[in-house]
Amino acid sequence: MSNPIALPSTFNDFLGNSTAIEHLRTAIAAGRLPHSLILAGPTGAGKYTLALMLAMAVECERQPRDLWSNGVSLASFCGVCHNCTRIASAANLEDEVDKAVAIREELRETDKKDTRILIQPHPDVLIVPPDPPQLLIKLGQIRTVIQRSHYLPGEAPKKLFILTAASFMKEAANSLLKVLEEPPDTVHLIILAENPGELLPTIRSRCATVRLGALPVEEIEQLLADRRQDVPPQQRTLIARLSQGAAGKAIGFDLAAYTAARADALLFLRNAAAANTGNAEPDHTALFKMTETYRAGAEGQQKTTALLRSLSLLLEDLLLLGAGTPELLRNTDLRPELDRLSQTLSFHWIEQASRALDQVQSGLRRNLLRSLSLDAFAAQLTTTAR
Ligand SMILES: [Zn+2]
Repeated sequence: MSNPIALPSTFNDFLGNSTAIEHLRTAIAAGRLPHSLILAGPTGAGKYTLALMLAMAVECERQPRDLWSNGVSLASFCGVCHNCTRIASAANLEDEVDKAVAIREELRETDKKDTRILIQPHPDVLIVPPDPPQLLIKLGQIRTVIQRSHYLPGEAPKKLFILTAASFMKEAANSLLKVLEEPPDTVHLIILAENPGELLPTIRSRCATVRLGALPVEEIEQLLADRRQDVPPQQRTLIARLSQGAAGKAIGFDLAAYTAARADALLFLRNAAAANTGNAEPDHTALFKMTETYRAGAEGQQKTTALLRSLSLLLEDLLLLGAGTPELLRNTDLRPELDRLSQTLSFHWIEQASRALDQVQSGLRRNLLRSLSLDAFAAQLTTTAR
């Protein structure tokens, strides 16, 4: 926790995606930033960081510009004015959410229910994260956005709302649609989406979408060499591959935690492979002993999420091997075992397992998962063998 995160001090220090960022900066300088914007990209691609930097560029008291020789003007931020510093203070999203949750926990039971998690680093900038434990953006949060969007900005040029995820409760999504239909002139809304497909088509069609792509493995390795000198070189290569082109994810990557989650995920695959060959009895005991360690509650949810993520990467690697593109493998350190597994587990099985995994993951987002359904998932993987 309380890991001080500093935003890049200029747009040029933001890694990757320079063309997309130039477009956004040009739009801000020209006063043409779309009122509703989706920033799409994988976890760690820098969606939240970029959203804060854009907010600073919109709200900065000094409104600095970078002028290009061809006459193009790009918006920038000073980073030191009272608007910039307040917005930058929300750089560590996880910490801000933790703080807001802790404050809510201290409320009386009756007030707790009506208190939504919101982060307000500046009177005109409101950050809306998915509300725990369900991790969905809720109606109460969107109602606050709607209410505040009717007020004129007080201390900065615009009112800015940053929704940090694309997972909404149904009523919240419908309600959001109303703001998007006729956004007030002074309002900008930025939705950060790992998967924009999660959003209602009617929401997507009312927003401009900017995609942040992943960085090449070599670039991430270089970045790790610069910023994570504590990580040995051979681990850097592995982390660069596992972070899937996301700079932020690579820098914060906890290899030990990932490896632990992956060891559990491998149990699922070994079990299914054993059932598939029929040579060995699948070892249900080991599997159920493992799933038993996954409990309900916030900690269990985190652990389960890590397990499912690593399982999903393993399945993707098996598909890459099956497709004859081993050079794209992420879990490079497991090559021999992955080779063995890919000989036993058919393409059809991997496809079905991926689909089952998607279902469990969406159930988890809706907080339906108990350790029981992890067992059911394990059983399903074994019986759908062949
Ligand atoms: Zn400033």
